Amino acid sequence: TELSKIRNFSIVAHIDHGKSTLADRLIQETNTVADRDMKEQMLDSMDIERERGITIKANTVRIDYTAEDGEDYVLNLIDTPGHVDFAYEVSRSMRAVEGSLLVVDSSQGVEAQTLANVYHAMEADHEIVPILNKIDLPASDCERVAEQIEDVIGIEATGAIQVSAKTGQGIRETLEAIVNELPAPKGDADAPLKAMLVDSWYDAYLGVIVLIRIIDGKLKKGERIRMMSTNAVYPVDRIGVFRPQMESIDELGPGELGFLTASIKQVRDTRVGDTITHEKKGTTEVLDGFKPAQPVVFCGLFPVDTAEFEDLRDSIEKLALNDASFSYEMETSAALGFGFRCGFLGLLHLEVIRDRIEREYDIDLITTAPSVIYHVHMRDGTMIELHNPADMPDLTLVDHLEEPRIKATILVPDEYLGDVLKLCQDRRGIQENLTYAGSRAMVVYDLPLNEVVFDFYDRLKSVTKGYASFDYVMTEYRQDNLVKMSVLVNDEPVDALSTMVHRDRAEMRGRAMVEKLKDLIPRHMFKIPIQAAIGGKVIARETLSAMRKDVTAKCYGGDASRKRKLLDKQKKGKKKMRQFGRVDIPQEAFINALKMD
Ligand code: GDP
Ligand code: MG
Repeated sequence: TELSKIRNFSIVAHIDHGKSTLADRLIQETNTVADRDMKEQMLDSMDIERERGITIKANTVRIDYTAEDGEDYVLNLIDTPGHVDFAYEVSRSMRAVEGSLLVVDSSQGVEAQTLANVYHAMEADHEIVPILNKIDLPASDCERVAEQIEDVIGIEATGAIQVSAKTGQGIRETLEAIVNELPAPKGDADAPLKAMLVDSWYDAYLGVIVLIRIIDGKLKKGERIRMMSTNAVYPVDRIGVFRPQMESIDELGPGELGFLTASIKQVRDTRVGDTITHEKKGTTEVLDGFKPAQPVVFCGLFPVDTAEFEDLRDSIEKLALNDASFSYEMETSAALGFGFRCGFLGLLHLEVIRDRIEREYDIDLITTAPSVIYHVHMRDGTMIELHNPADMPDLTLVDHLEEPRIKATILVPDEYLGDVLKLCQDRRGIQENLTYAGSRAMVVYDLPLNEVVFDFYDRLKSVTKGYASFDYVMTEYRQDNLVKMSVLVNDEPVDALSTMVHRDRAEMRGRAMVEKLKDLIPRHMFKIPIQAAIGGKVIARETLSAMRKDVTAKCYGGDASRKRKLLDKQKKGKKKMRQFGRVDIPQEAFINALKMD
């Protein structure tokens, strides 16, 4: 396709502002997909994405559009993930396109992820077309939201396109704006091949599929390509485009987005951001390198049933093939036996992987407390990266600890500001900035990542009734007074419950945790002491009293089916428990014990 007839773009939006719905409408309006094949949220393919309404992997679609000027255009849309955990994926896919549609819900206004995502677009030098969506809603206020976009983001928005992705209003105008306002890509068809590896994933039938953007030159089926970061050479089996299903074509030229397959064995052999060229007569220039995404949150995954360890290994290996940002290594825990220490981009990423293991592979899991990576500076001058509190070295050998900090941006209606400040303060936050955008406050906090990875986002949602939005970036490692807190159940340490805490908050945390555990652990035939300790010193203690009656005693014998149900329930509960010494601890205790209310 001629360069002047190509437009490559992404859609940036806060979650729920209508990005996927708008993408669906663009696909439908241009008859890219026959009406009978149209299903909602074409681009959100994984089940879990549909259920949660989030987009995890970037997806692409090629749309043919005959514009009002009578010319035929090729529009390539990359759908980017909208959640903070995947900020890295957003920024890299942005570099593969020239423009963005900025979608803002006109009944809500600008939110934290609107800002975070639009900044990625600006960094990638995008032309940005503002779109006010959901104009069919009674609460829609285009004038106010346009003003807010101008004030907060600093782009012209008075002429913003007014759209209802629900009814289809404004979709034609959007297509015309893509053609008329976004720039065509640049590139040289006669230059040596230079392509960007935008993304890659594993497909059960085709193996590794690589999403590429051609910068210069042409790529044809059967040619041999070189990955410039590794010098690995592959013969290209197939190239094609997404409509959105895969369609083979013979050649991709400059400015085009498409895929290739080349008998690449695993996703790990492809480096996102890498430059792809021909094996012979290739380019010598590499594209500005991208860093691979680094896991920041770690936790242990153990099978509830120890016999399922091999199944767990199998499922983790399979998932890792398709997700290079997920790391794992085997771990043994005195209490939990064999499992894996896994690294994730953030908590959502953790939940997604955990759900997939439980759901797709049918393995019940115990998830241990999520932890960040601490830098442990030893007295001998060396530094250890601590991924697991259970591995904390002997304190007499440790000089000091550092923890990762983040810069968090929170947008919240004025009336909830007080609660948000309190929450941030409680999580050892340092306020950096407070400004207003209309009736919404925008606060910037310097926070320890460790206080955020766990339940910060849930707490934020609950104290603001869902009206706050949140985004963060990692900043630096900083020294603080951090200690390892252990938990003992029936005088046995349960290493899976150890956590790193700030010394000043250890008592409070310890108390909250033992109280929680007292509720979470069912009674046994004997008394169970539950303690939190730092080093050898107990800082909090509760005692779970012994059980008196058996659970069916209340049923007065009569109703047999009720009795059976209760026993069944009890048996099921059992399945999700693990024995620690003589004590059964239910699976959910490991996560719930850490929640702070
Ligand atoms: P995304 O998270 O940005 O991809 O948002 P979705 O496209 O999933 O939309 C979020 C919700 O808003 C869904 O329930 C949509 O049906 C709804 N929605 C999207 N666009 C419109 C619109 O123009 N009007 C109305 N009333 N609802 C919309
Ligand atoms: Mg979506």
